[in-house]
Amino acid sequence: MALLEVIIEDFDSITIETMSQEIKAIIDELVVANKILYNEGVVDGFGHISVRHPSKENRFFIAKSMAPGLVTAQDILECDFEGVIHDPANRTSYVERFIHSEIFRARSDVNAVVHSHSPSVIPFGVTSQRLRPICHMSGFLGAQTPIYEIRHTAGETSDLLINSQKLGKSLANTLGSATVALMRGHGSVAVGTSIKQVVYRAIYTEANAKLQLESMKIGSIEFLTEGEALATSAMADIHLERPWALWKEKALAKLN
Ligand code: MN
Repeated sequence: MALLEVIIEDFDSITIETMSQEIKAIIDELVVANKILYNEGVVDGFGHISVRHPSKENRFFIAKSMAPGLVTAQDILECDFEGVIHDPANRTSYVERFIHSEIFRARSDVNAVVHSHSPSVIPFGVTSQRLRPICHMSGFLGAQTPIYEIRHTAGETSDLLINSQKLGKSLANTLGSATVALMRGHGSVAVGTSIKQVVYRAIYTEANAKLQLESMKIGSIEFLTEGEALATSAMADIHLERPWALWKEKALAKLN
């Protein structure tokens, strides 16, 4: 009996130790992601990234309400799917945290979410020109990048922010199974299975929009086919570490 107790005690301490190390690593990666997204021009003073909690159901990590480029590990908070922040110091997070909570709720395949106002994407949310994959780095855009129209849920006098569960749900509904959704007159949201994947997607959504705007000046555009989009997306997923290492080094050199 005594031996069993020792074994159980050891097992518990190892489990707790391992878990806290895992969470520490996730939070550190989330901090780096915040800095990368700022340094690469996806977010500015606004915008945010979140990651699903690896072990607690219906929880995710997101920074407190602040500019992403300045986020440190101490600024990361735990939020639940109702949008409630669990913080002993009662700090608050972004009013648009419902973008994250409702997408995590709706999409079990999604572990990380980026919301930004990256500028080149905005024109494709307010015109008849749809954002489509123009090169092999942005095949993840697929055939469709849906556009969220907040007026359908919030009427014609809203401030365009996703500041409630109801609006978060309707945005998640528009996103459907896509990787990116545009938000008319506001910005966009990108989702991924990991922090590295969603950072890649957010950066190349902006890059694709820039290229598409440039190409439109020259003539009609030959977009990737649906098959090419699928194949190039799978190819890019194999190589996420390479650009991440570069973006991380650049961002930390500048911001630390
Ligand atoms: Mn916003």
